[in-house]
Amino acid sequence: QTIPNLKFNNGVEIPQLGLGVFLVKEENELKNAVKAALETGYRHIDTAMIYGNETYVGEAIRESGVDRKEIFITSKVWNYDHGYEETKAAFQASLDRLGTDYLDLYLIHWPSPKYIETWKAMEELYHEGKIKAIGVSNFQIHHLEDLLAHSEVVPVINQIETHPEFPQNELHEFLKQHNILHEAWGPLGQGKNNLLEQPVLVELGKKYGKTPAQIVLRWHVERGIVVIPKSVTPSRIKENSEIFDFSLTPEDMEKIASLNTGKRYGRNPDDEEFLA
Ligand code: NAD
Repeated sequence: QTIPNLKFNNGVEIPQLGLGVFLVKEENELKNAVKAALETGYRHIDTAMIYGNETYVGEAIRESGVDRKEIFITSKVWNYDHGYEETKAAFQASLDRLGTDYLDLYLIHWPSPKYIETWKAMEELYHEGKIKAIGVSNFQIHHLEDLLAHSEVVPVINQIETHPEFPQNELHEFLKQHNILHEAWGPLGQGKNNLLEQPVLVELGKKYGKTPAQIVLRWHVERGIVVIPKSVTPSRIKENSEIFDFSLTPEDMEKIASLNTGKRYGRNPDDEEFLA
């Protein structure tokens, strides 16, 4: 199966499915996961400085033999690296660890208070061609409104917690209106709350001959969302990519939408103590 690309507001394209590597720190486990994904046809890896695995991601890519230029790499600037000079240094350190001279996408990981200065540094790195596209993560509508009012470059994407129990409907509409792509972190609910055992998902899995995880990922894809499910198990990495050969009916999309509880599983982006 071919993984389709989505187009950013600056014309650059992103594969709609990537591999997430949060919490994968052990060298062999990380490298085997990245290599399994690349062998399966993934061309998009989502890492971050704070995940502590950029070095292994870079090594795994080189060891895979796949050309760097064919692979879309995302990394993110962490809260304590916010600020103009700090961000420039953090970005260079990420490049050095990854062993590359450009990033496809660099994100502000959380809306820490100095995100405007951070963004200024990212705009310059973007204009210099060192980053193909710049975006944000965990931004609420009020953060985006502030950023849009005080900067030049419109973010290409916002990576936010999104799954059937927390579909982010309001933010999704806002992003659509502003031509900013929606990327889901925790697309499978991070293995929490037994989300994948929900009867609706199990039943739809039987109907389509797919697993509940594939049903959930397909639901995101139909919403135009970029997904980066995490797995270190080759069979699941493959399973998670086999979502482009079927589609859900509008009625089935609605059934999944009915799982909305309005409750996030993860951290609230307005938690000031965490962001400081
Ligand atoms: P996820 O929703 O991708 O869930 C991962 C868990 O689901 C795995 O631990 C695995 O046990 C399970 N799983 C994977 N494939 C499965 C399958 N086919 N069937 C059954 N279970 C399966 O959660 P995540 O890893 O937190 O999110 C994905 C990626 O998003 C991360 O790896 C990271 O790259 C990114 N992320 C970003 C932020 C952020 O603040 N920007 C926060 C969390 C995660």
